[in-house]
Amino acid sequence: MPEAAQRVRNLPPYLFAKIERLIAEKKAAGVDVISLGIGDPDQPTPAHICSEAARQIYEQENHRYPSSAGMLSFRDAVAQWYARRFGVTLDPESEVVSLIGSKEGIAHISWCYVNPGDTVLVPDPGYPVYAGGTILAGGEPYTLPLLPENAFLPRFDEIPTEVAKRAKILFLNYPNNPTAGVATKEFFMEAVSFAREFDILVCHDAAYTEIAYDGYRPPSFLQVHGAKEVGIEFGSVSKPYNMTGWRCGWAAGKKEAIDCLGTLKSNIDSGVFQVVQYAAIAGLTGPQETLAQMNDLYKERREIAVNALREMGWHIQPPKASFYLWLPVPRNFTSESFAEELIEKAGVVVTPGSGYGKYGAGYFRISLTVPTGRLREAFDRLKQVLGRVSF
Ligand SMILES: *Cc1c(COP(=O)(O)O)cnc(C)c1O
Repeated sequence: MPEAAQRVRNLPPYLFAKIERLIAEKKAAGVDVISLGIGDPDQPTPAHICSEAARQIYEQENHRYPSSAGMLSFRDAVAQWYARRFGVTLDPESEVVSLIGSKEGIAHISWCYVNPGDTVLVPDPGYPVYAGGTILAGGEPYTLPLLPENAFLPRFDEIPTEVAKRAKILFLNYPNNPTAGVATKEFFMEAVSFAREFDILVCHDAAYTEIAYDGYRPPSFLQVHGAKEVGIEFGSVSKPYNMTGWRCGWAAGKKEAIDCLGTLKSNIDSGVFQVVQYAAIAGLTGPQETLAQMNDLYKERREIAVNALREMGWHIQPPKASFYLWLPVPRNFTSESFAEELIEKAGVVVTPGSGYGKYGAGYFRISLTVPTGRLREAFDRLKQVLGRVSF
């Protein structure tokens, strides 16, 4: 057996091993473990989407290789959705490419633009795939701290000029996982000028634009002037339509980047199962009521969580978007020790913030993607175990 290649060995160590061992131990001991750790919708894919897939699965043309860029009808559905939702015009043929879930494209985009030794600007805390894809391509992630005092937005003026000059890609993600931070169009405009000045490709991960509350409508990066000349946006049916298992997303925006990603992918995969593309079309072009219903459900859970956390002593504002709460751990705990304590004493799993980067240390993430009754039960247990916390 040869040794694993350097690029694989360069990946950061898996941080949740200890916690996963603890969870397994508790489960084996018969504890009813409730996980608030996973960002994966608990509700089913809407029925009209499933029906379309059921119908398409018998069509023989769908049993063959799909095109790697995606069916034109799928790319057109994405373009129409952008026009309706954001007022953004996209050419479905040259400005949209299908992805096997947006994670796939996020991981592969670095292969398109990063040479060994190049820098990629990566938010911290952040979705681990930005740094992972960078490292696999031989690049070096440069951390952009997302701090509460900056509303979890990176400060472009604090990036050293030499770093910016070496950077090929800037990853952004709003509404943000894990912090639930949101971006304004003004912030996206700053990102466009920064990218122009240093010739950087902006890659905006827009997985959560449809999960929002209290009338707030998160913007698309592509809505701001000049965005399409410097960047692309990753989108997905995973979160809005409870379709994480189906694996279907897209990248949209700057032609050259879409073309490059499509070329790379045509050497790696053979596209998204057409049945899944038809299902995604049904999601994007069909009735959108289920979205409002999902947001109502998450909002109800958000109230349960925020009220319980406030009772325990957390000073928090309800998140405006995403289905996450990002919270400081109480005094005398680290991210890990707090998560371990909650599993040990309450049988409740939260995600330690340190798993999202060094600036995530001292935080933990709660996901609202658990059945409402289970969420209530989890907070009842937490109140019993923690009582009142101090910081
Ligand atoms: C869930 C999520 C995605 C979407 O992943 P898919 O591969 O499309 O399922 C992308 N980015 C972030 C930050 C996410 O949390």
